[in-house]
Amino acid sequence: MEDCTRLATDRGWSVAETYVDNDVSASTGRRRPEYERLLDDIKRDRVSALVVWDIDRLTRTPAELETLIDLAEAHGVALASVGGEVDLGTPQGRLTARIKGSVARHEVEQSSRRLKRKFLERAESGLSHGKVAYGYVREPVIDETGTVRGYTELLHPEQAAVIQTATKRILAGEPLRAVASALNETGSMSPSGKPWSGTTLRQVLLRDRNAGRRVHQKQVIGKGNWPAILDDDSFDRLVALLRDPRRRTGNNGGVKHLLSGIAICGNCGERLRGAAEHRYGKKKQPRSYACQNCYKVRRKADAVDEVVEALVIARLERPDAADLFAGDSDAMTRATSEKLAIEARLDLLADQFADGLITGSQLERGTARLRPKLAEVEAQIIAASPSPEYAELVGPGVRARWEGQSLDRKRAVIDALMRVTVLPSGAGQRFSPEQVEFEWSL
Ligand SMILES: [Zn+2]
Repeated sequence: MEDCTRLATDRGWSVAETYVDNDVSASTGRRRPEYERLLDDIKRDRVSALVVWDIDRLTRTPAELETLIDLAEAHGVALASVGGEVDLGTPQGRLTARIKGSVARHEVEQSSRRLKRKFLERAESGLSHGKVAYGYVREPVIDETGTVRGYTELLHPEQAAVIQTATKRILAGEPLRAVASALNETGSMSPSGKPWSGTTLRQVLLRDRNAGRRVHQKQVIGKGNWPAILDDDSFDRLVALLRDPRRRTGNNGGVKHLLSGIAICGNCGERLRGAAEHRYGKKKQPRSYACQNCYKVRRKADAVDEVVEALVIARLERPDAADLFAGDSDAMTRATSEKLAIEARLDLLADQFADGLITGSQLERGTARLRPKLAEVEAQIIAASPSPEYAELVGPGVRARWEGQSLDRKRAVIDALMRVTVLPSGAGQRFSPEQVEFEWSL
């Protein structure tokens, strides 16, 4: 309707009447009352011109098209179409109309184009489409005549709380699977009504809409008109964490060793893997970290763990430790203002498109140029942002609190704090703490 009204205005025509047959599929043979009313109005010479989105929306069968051509000719009705010009007054135009009407493949493409147009329109206006999303409820907006004019989205208190709690726990270093099973123990159900799994939880948590961002064709194009469940900062850090390739390739089946996949081989730079205690011939092999790439490094895991944990505890006990997880507020301010500027430009593009000032391909080109810049500043924000989840570890009595942490959480803290390298030492050499090199990253 928006496109058609614009075309009519371009032609200098005033819109006398609109005919909308909503929800009547072109392929079903159901009656279209508005279309019939249109034909009637043409017969009564109430219509001098007709604007359609596409000619194939107007008629459904070749016979219908012929009737319309005859009518338009007899009553001198001009026709304009948003999807390409078709002049029913010329033989060429009628041929075009007939070809268009009879090519079924075209219809399929059109219906997908129309759907896309509809989704884009909804995305632009900040409306969500499809099923109501997990974490939200929809409430009808009713005007004074009692007609439903649309929907507003509100938070579903329990579901939104599930998203918030799960995010907090994952940011604190708990693995998806553990958080999913904890949710299941509380009786919470995933959107499909089944118990949560790591995968379903990941899907729900990674939705941009949770941060109030509207997405069109997998790209964020602005702010939605629904409330956000997560603040931008938590959401961005969560996305970075869940998309971290090490986390994905890492041990989803429950890590058993503190430094497995974290400590680095001093010979080749690969990440070391943990191996449980086992028998090798008659000899008992202790739990160990080993390089499965160059085989030059194998160290007793207990000894390495002891060194690393002592380092972390000493670091967290220092008076300046509270600053460790405070982030870099200057860098954060810079990156955040840059991010706002880029988002404002994306919003402007979306508005210009909605107002018909730029075309869809111009919108796409513009957003494609801005997206990498946005990703870059978002990464800067994540690097500079504080990690309040770890702040509670800091201060006197760290050792006792550290011992009380889960293995996953300990791993997350070590990974954030330092880079651990285990040096090769030659066969038969006794372990010495100097073989563990470390570098603070915070
Ligand atoms: Zn190696």
